[in-house]
Amino acid sequence: MELEGLAAHARPKLITDVPGPEAMARIERDRKVTSPSLPRAYPFAPRRGSGSVVEDVDGNIFLDLNAGIAVTSTGHCHPAVVEAVQRQATQLLHYSASDFYLPIYADVCERLDAFAPFGGSRARTFLTNSGTEAVEAAIKLSRYATGRQYLIGFYQSFHGRSMGSITLTASKAKYRTNFGPLMPSVYHSFYGDFDYIEQVLFKRIVSPTEVAAIVVESWLGEGGYVLPPEGWFTYLRELCDRHGILLVCDEVQSGMGRSGTMWAVEQEGVSPDIVTAGKGIASGLPLGAMIARDDLMTWDLGAHGSTYGGSPVSCAAALATFDVIEREGLLENARTIGEVLLEGFRDIAQRHPIITEVRGRALWIGLSFADHDHAVAVEQASFRKGLLILGCGDDAIRISPPLVFREDQAIAALSIFEEAAAEVEGAS
Ligand code: PLP
Repeated sequence: MELEGLAAHARPKLITDVPGPEAMARIERDRKVTSPSLPRAYPFAPRRGSGSVVEDVDGNIFLDLNAGIAVTSTGHCHPAVVEAVQRQATQLLHYSASDFYLPIYADVCERLDAFAPFGGSRARTFLTNSGTEAVEAAIKLSRYATGRQYLIGFYQSFHGRSMGSITLTASKAKYRTNFGPLMPSVYHSFYGDFDYIEQVLFKRIVSPTEVAAIVVESWLGEGGYVLPPEGWFTYLRELCDRHGILLVCDEVQSGMGRSGTMWAVEQEGVSPDIVTAGKGIASGLPLGAMIARDDLMTWDLGAHGSTYGGSPVSCAAALATFDVIEREGLLENARTIGEVLLEGFRDIAQRHPIITEVRGRALWIGLSFADHDHAVAVEQASFRKGLLILGCGDDAIRISPPLVFREDQAIAALSIFEEAAAEVEGAS
């Protein structure tokens, strides 16, 4: 079957029990040689993908509501992205943009600066290989630009795996366990809380005059696919303005159209000072970005750089991704299909009391369950039926398909998900 033919599938097609024999063999080999720290969710061994469909090594066809963990924004192997990558690969695989003037690097920065959510203020961009590096860059720039050392993050947040990022991360203790001492001068508040920063942190722990930045996920991802309460970002913005603190929005997961707008923070009605991006930015090639207001980029020559950050091949994929999002109306598609999914999941929740909450917007949907075990059981049962979904938070499942997800696929996904929920409910 041609790759494009794969994308046409509206529903999964399993030809073996999953995992099939080839997947089991691959997994056995994998387990002998890979780091045991890798948090594999279920025994899925992908071979190729197109659009929102992925085929595993046994030839089983799955509907991908993970988008490779919110990465393949334009779908798997979008022809325009593949063509851009192939073309770039024949021209120039690498030249470090840190030490030289790589034109395609500036092309990507120009595009990102143009749609940065800074209310018209000019922007500049630093490109990285990953989300966590973008967060590290934001930490460094915040300290550099303000001359202050303290940072405030939020419980339930996830910002990545490097040392600065895991210090801000406070979603699960296991991400931090045995890695201390972590970065000093970081405190946490509660996502969506209107009092704790002022009443506890600023009163008893740290003077706001020493705080460089509040670092916050615009919409909470790994912590449960949660939207902030109404007015909370206005409150954070006002708090930051009052004390000369920078507002850093981590949009690594929520950015690039998943929210139905380019950035989720656009829907919160405020302009941050710095934005971090990653995941969907290059449809699957490694790329991250730290975008800051122009006047904050005060750091001197050599203060920050990267050998690979903004690789020409990743940059080519990013430029093609921006074009596809625009040309194919993917923000609108995310909103339209998101409505179909949200309504469908809300209906299903009424019939299945193990689902305690359905929340979200566009292709950012979180489903809470009676407890963690039920969430995991539904995730696993869905996998066995050919539906790829992923747990998050304490007791939730996230639904984050590619932005090209279609209505026929949404309808199939809902009915398979309901079968999985019913099966789990029947067994409990
Ligand atoms: N920030 C957020 C909000 C994320 O969801 C993630 C990854 O899941 C990261 C940062 C880290 O990105 P990466 O895994 O590319 O380092």
